[in-house]
Amino acid sequence: MRRISVFGATGSIGQSTLDLIGRDREAYHVVALSGGRNIARLARDARSFGAEIAVTAHEELLTDLREALAGSGVEAAAGPAALREAAARPADWVMSAIVGAAGLAPGLKALEQGATLALANKESLVSAGPLLMATARAHGATVLPVDSEHSAIFQALIGEDISAVERVIITASGGPFRDWPVSRLARATLQEALNHPNWVMGQRITIDSASMFNKALEVIEAKEFFGFAPEQIEVLVHPESIVHALVGFRDGALMAHLGAPDMRHAIGFALNWPKRRELPVARPDLAQLGQLRFQRPDEARFPALRLAREVMAAGGLAGAVFNAAKEAALDAFIAGRIGFMDMAGVVERVLAEMSSAGGLDDGAMTLDKVTAADHLARIKAGEAIARAQQQEA
Ligand code: NAD
Ligand code: MG
Repeated sequence: MRRISVFGATGSIGQSTLDLIGRDREAYHVVALSGGRNIARLARDARSFGAEIAVTAHEELLTDLREALAGSGVEAAAGPAALREAAARPADWVMSAIVGAAGLAPGLKALEQGATLALANKESLVSAGPLLMATARAHGATVLPVDSEHSAIFQALIGEDISAVERVIITASGGPFRDWPVSRLARATLQEALNHPNWVMGQRITIDSASMFNKALEVIEAKEFFGFAPEQIEVLVHPESIVHALVGFRDGALMAHLGAPDMRHAIGFALNWPKRRELPVARPDLAQLGQLRFQRPDEARFPALRLAREVMAAGGLAGAVFNAAKEAALDAFIAGRIGFMDMAGVVERVLAEMSSAGGLDDGAMTLDKVTAADHLARIKAGEAIARAQQQEA
């Protein structure tokens, strides 16, 4: 039996992961499941999968979790230290599906115990890619991408020599605002940003898709995961979300990965790797689709992509700063404190302030340095958000 843990089990990726595991229960022993405020869901799944331990991220919810698990034999724990401890429990395969930089520390713990890390938590690669990949190497652990685009690239590279790659193309649906003018984007509401045309995902990544911050994170993720040079990574808007990525080789060939927009494909690929097994995902009907369209993204309307290029050029802790400022700006947009286009403004300001103050240090990356840069970036973002609010008033 394979020992499996799922961090962020109550979220969109976590639930899809449990859906797949639940179809073949006898094959898996569930070690740890983690969640946030949805104690009922966490306890339900921990009971039904017979997990060893269930962890909520919130210490104040420990009593609730204990009560919900009473009599089940599942251990209850809470808080960031408990998450790290649970991730250090021996497992063969660990799903990293916490949203945000909070996923980094448990991901590192899982790698340190040698588990194969299925990485949906792109924020940990953006914030600390060199640290994460070096930790995997040092412990002989494998990282498998669970972003649809990166899983697509990974699959297109099977049997290929990576040095023969000229470029990769990551596709973006363009989100709900694909054709909106900037003037209208500035007034976009939370409800409008949550109205994604093709994918059903957690709230935060859905808004990041509308602003293209998700694609910006993914460009950096591709650099950190595969080691491509920034100029090798291109983005194309592809409204149908059927082609997830393409790899261009030096002989001019382009290998594309096509699939329905269903994360169970990328999750299932990582779960079954290096084998392929049947997955409960729709098979694309190309004749019915009729056409697949591609267009260049408009960086004036979606400045996040330009910022990602600046982050890659700066290197060091720029990714951690970028991600943390983005998370703070996203919180402020969700809370109705700033407008949709203000998010990029806040992130740009924080990056500029911290680079001019020498805060993007290029020395050896440690978790402490990443955490400190993340913390300072959130403080600076708070200041930039307050200024943006004043301007609006
Ligand atoms: P979600 O919001 O649906 O779920 C997030 C999970 O993380 C929940 O279990 C929540 O309880 C937990 N969580 C939130 N804050 C936490 C904290 N501070 N500490 C510990 N746990 C915390 O998010 P999602 O859409 O499932 O996305 C999860 C990750 O996968 C993200 O990094 C996202 O970018 C990535 N991803 C998601 C999709 C998708 O289709 N949903 C696709 C590609 C990549
Ligand atoms: Mg993606």
